[in-house]
Amino acid sequence: MKNALRKRVLVTGGAGFLGSHLCDRLLKDGHEVLCVDNFYTGTKNNIAHLLENPFFELVRHDVTFPLYIEVDEIYNLACPASPVHYQHDPVQTTKTSVHGAINMLGLAKRVRAKILQASTSEVYGDPAVHPQTESYWGNVNTIGVRSCYDEGKRCAETLFFDYYRQHKLNIKVARIFNTYGPRMLPNDGRVVSNFIVQALQGQAITVYGDGSQTRSFCYVDDLIEAFIRFMDSDDDFVGPVNLGNPGEFTILELAEKVIEMTNSKSTIEFKPLPQDDPTQRQPDISLAKERLNWQPAIKLEQGLCNTVRYFQTLLA
Ligand code: NAD
Ligand code: UDP
Repeated sequence: MKNALRKRVLVTGGAGFLGSHLCDRLLKDGHEVLCVDNFYTGTKNNIAHLLENPFFELVRHDVTFPLYIEVDEIYNLACPASPVHYQHDPVQTTKTSVHGAINMLGLAKRVRAKILQASTSEVYGDPAVHPQTESYWGNVNTIGVRSCYDEGKRCAETLFFDYYRQHKLNIKVARIFNTYGPRMLPNDGRVVSNFIVQALQGQAITVYGDGSQTRSFCYVDDLIEAFIRFMDSDDDFVGPVNLGNPGEFTILELAEKVIEMTNSKSTIEFKPLPQDDPTQRQPDISLAKERLNWQPAIKLEQGLCNTVRYFQTLLA
């Protein structure tokens, strides 16, 4: 007989960085997990330890095509998140966000499942308001190299709120700020994994621009805790809600911290700043604190230390 508390949960993008940690957590909490992934940036290594678990099911599927299954909850994470990867095939990136959202919302509507969207701080673009609150509408270029991701995610938010208003769907929209940790790909292209891999391999640390641009880095475990709290929150709390760590650092500070923590002899090499690279980013998480009773607990040093250890093992 099915455990009344055990839910069937779909995680799209479940073989990716965040998705695989979410699968771990849901299984640990006693749920049944359906992991859907087309392995564009995800890897079987991230979920290999789950394949023998009878409550874990892996489906190779591209979310731009409809999916017919029965589930209670959906976490929609499928989408490449690193600028290098989402700019590699920008048309597919927009399709993944927009068609993927339509297909997963359609599935949620058919089976009356609750659905959470992994949106992003990129909906704020290069923000003119600092720190960013959920009420800020953003400053996004519609035709730049980042637009496939930013506008895809913005359109997905629109779809979520129209399904909410039009079809009374139970939705949750999370705006995730830069999150890092074990299981990022060594060639992921995002700043934390790039710097750690470069430092461990004694290569030059590639700082884009003069390194004065800022980001706020959240450790993966903190973010997964927020996902679970948000999914379990009152039905009237649909978001959007900022999820991230308000600790703000310049990219140059991050480079120096990584060099120091790894005792690396790497030097810093300045490279051109990519087009439309946001100059500053810091979440205002007052809403998450109030409605989810959540705030990050893991300091940058601790999170970086865990991540360095992961890459040391991986690269050994
Ligand atoms: P990731 O690239 O590691 O994971 C994305 C996963 O989605 C991969 O496993 C990939 O293979 C899969 N995928 C891509 N296109 C797909 C498709 N068409 N069909 C099925 N699967 C597909 O990235 P991540 O950091 O784990 O990000 C997960 C989600 O969170 C993404 O939606 C991303 O936009 C969002 N997000 C992440 C961050 C962050 O800092 N990590 C910040 C903001 C938003
Ligand atoms: N960045 C950098 N060197 C790298 C990779 C990234 O200086 O090797 C910078 C990048 O230009 C940006 C910041 O680090 O200003 C964060 O980049 P990332 O790709 O991690 O995320 P996003 O720009 O989407 O926040």
